[in-house]
Amino acid sequence: MLSNGCTEDDLFSFLASKKKEDIDHRYILSSMCTLPHPIAARAHAMFLETNLGDPGLFPGTASLEQLLIRRFGTLFHKPDAGGYATSGGTESNIQAMRLAKALCHTKTPNVIVPQSAHFSFKKACDILSVETRSVPLGPDKRIHADTAAELIDKNTIALVAVAGTTEYGMVDPIGDLAKVAAQNDIFFHVDAAFGGMVIPFLDKPIPFDFSLPGVTTIAVDPHKMGMSTIPAGCLLTREPDMLDALNIDTPYLTVKKEYTLAGTRPGAPVVGALAVLDYLGTEGMKAIVAGCMKNTRRLIAGMETYGIQPAANPDVNVATFVCDKAPAPWRVSWTRAGHMRIVCMPHVTADRIEAFLSDFGDMQC
Ligand SMILES: *Cc1c(COP(=O)(O)O)cnc(C)c1O
Repeated sequence: MLSNGCTEDDLFSFLASKKKEDIDHRYILSSMCTLPHPIAARAHAMFLETNLGDPGLFPGTASLEQLLIRRFGTLFHKPDAGGYATSGGTESNIQAMRLAKALCHTKTPNVIVPQSAHFSFKKACDILSVETRSVPLGPDKRIHADTAAELIDKNTIALVAVAGTTEYGMVDPIGDLAKVAAQNDIFFHVDAAFGGMVIPFLDKPIPFDFSLPGVTTIAVDPHKMGMSTIPAGCLLTREPDMLDALNIDTPYLTVKKEYTLAGTRPGAPVVGALAVLDYLGTEGMKAIVAGCMKNTRRLIAGMETYGIQPAANPDVNVATFVCDKAPAPWRVSWTRAGHMRIVCMPHVTADRIEAFLSDFGDMQC
């Protein structure tokens, strides 16, 4: 550290030069995050200093967190669902597994997780010392109820499914899996970190939420398709008070107990998330999602004209291709199986798709 600090001008010109090193969003096709909606940015700026870890000091902000949970509960067909705002899908998944473990009494617990699951479940099972049993995917890149059911035994504390897989954008058959979970009386967590803000707004929504009696908890990330500022995730529980099973004592705060993973928690992105939902409403979200799905289909059709085959027929706005090269300076990503992956987020507009297709065509020649 400098002993006398530096001038504000010097500091901010240094910061600006570093920010220039970041990739321009116009070329980012690889991310499940996007530019925050201007409404989210404005709300975020208004709540910068708020700490949801000490809600007695910020009762107004804390009530906005409750409203956000209410919004998602209603969207997911259980208006009185419990839950809280997390830092994202990783924390939601860790906490869901922690909750499943707290509700069971077995010495050698295992959880059943799709092969397509996000790597956050590795972190969760490592932290919790829980065995992971991986469900192989069918040719359609989804898990199926019979293969999942085979892995269940008396030490199974949870079954996990994904609504909108990170790599290929597939929705597992949540309805069939929920039946298996209910029949075996096990905790069923649906990771809808990405799909939770897409599926409800599709022309034909695929059932994945609390409308299915076997679903216990749902993860959803406003900082992805919810266009909030980062970090904003939510964990929803079917039973309003379910998370109390994780309570520990917090002697020196305004609340005496806490079930969250983080202590200090930012209110700003949580308010940002709520602001976007309330500003856009269902119709606004439907329009955004329809645009992203249209761009996904256009991208797939455009690549096909170059003889490039899609690697999957996605349920949400993730397009993957049997292809191993992308034109500079575009940033695409690659799945574990080596497929090119493009997430058609709201910042990936129709003209950006056309520009990418044109550059891809030039590269082919
Ligand atoms: C993005 C994602 C996660 C992880 O969320 P973070 O916000 O990056 O922690 C978990 N599950 C799925 C399905 C995701 O798409």
